[in-house]
Amino acid sequence: MSGAKGGIRDLIDRLEAGRTLSQQEWVVLIEGRNPETAEYLFERARAVRERIYGKDVYIRGLIECSNYCRNDCFYCGIRRSNGNISRYRLDRETILDCCQEGYRLGFRTFVLQGGEDGAMTDEWTEKTVAAIREKFPDCAITLSLGEREKESYRRFFSAGADRYLLRHETADRKHYAMLHPAGMSYEHRMNCLRELKNIGYQTGCGFMVGSPGQTALSLAQDMCFISEFRPEMVGIGPFIPQHDTPFARETAGTLELTLYMLGLLRLLRPNVLLPATTALGTIHPRGRELGILAGANVVMPNLSPSAVRGKYLLYDNKLCTGDEAAESVENLKMRMKEIGYRVVTDRGDFRQ
Ligand code: SAH
Repeated sequence: MSGAKGGIRDLIDRLEAGRTLSQQEWVVLIEGRNPETAEYLFERARAVRERIYGKDVYIRGLIECSNYCRNDCFYCGIRRSNGNISRYRLDRETILDCCQEGYRLGFRTFVLQGGEDGAMTDEWTEKTVAAIREKFPDCAITLSLGEREKESYRRFFSAGADRYLLRHETADRKHYAMLHPAGMSYEHRMNCLRELKNIGYQTGCGFMVGSPGQTALSLAQDMCFISEFRPEMVGIGPFIPQHDTPFARETAGTLELTLYMLGLLRLLRPNVLLPATTALGTIHPRGRELGILAGANVVMPNLSPSAVRGKYLLYDNKLCTGDEAAESVENLKMRMKEIGYRVVTDRGDFRQ
């Protein structure tokens, strides 16, 4: 028993020392966890994060610009085949109004996220990015609009976008095929990530924790991929079923494993921008705080217009009001202060 514990601690220490772990070692580290080793991991993760980012918590205003999507991911509530949601798309003026409000509230990063909506053409997106860039020169612009052509990514970057979030969802090919319909390609998504990085975006990948069919080996593959890819950002959160998807009756990912993966990510990529995500806040009332205490350093409150907030339903019970709402940033500040951290008004770029 104590020998096994020593083994896990030893792996944690080696990870912190910057050593590369093998896939098998990752499996052991994930499968062999227990509450004591998890607590040890979180202590190490906090120490590493504080060395680089201090006690600062960066906030991002999340603008969910469209819930139309051409894709049909089995887990996602805004998938094409879901006929039970009311679809919307924001126009440019509305998005700029959201940014204006966000700026007033202290946000210096705006994240435009949406389904793969054919109406958000390259031209529209480019002009929207340029308009935000012009009006808010001191802010960072993050896009999360799915898989696009290399040329499109280039255009958005030239127009002023700084960062791009594209979760790889899983680095296990077989698992990828269980989560997505046949038309969607693991290679294509991975290629997009490489292109984004080459263009010069601060690039974010990521995965859901506890998605159907995921094993410790899939998570180990995610960690090996992240180790090689060296992303500037990583977004992870628990899988949560949505009632109108093929995964309606699947079990949600756990708080416990999500926190553990956050801790491991902080040690694997000490400088990474790592959000305590909305999904984490959705499965536990203190999910965000616990995420920060496990090594996360970013929170992304909802800055979408209140009229559409209830419609971007990736999964059931998704938070969008209360302290999840950008206008409650004062409450968020208080909650972070209570655990010893401080929300800052800053672009919050990746630190080399
Ligand atoms: N269309 C964009 C944005 C996707 S939504 C893209 O392709 O990148 C952002 C993320 O929400 C997804 O990458 C996915 O990891 C997560 N998500 C979708 N459905 C979910 C669910 N049921 N539970 C938890 N997270 C989910």
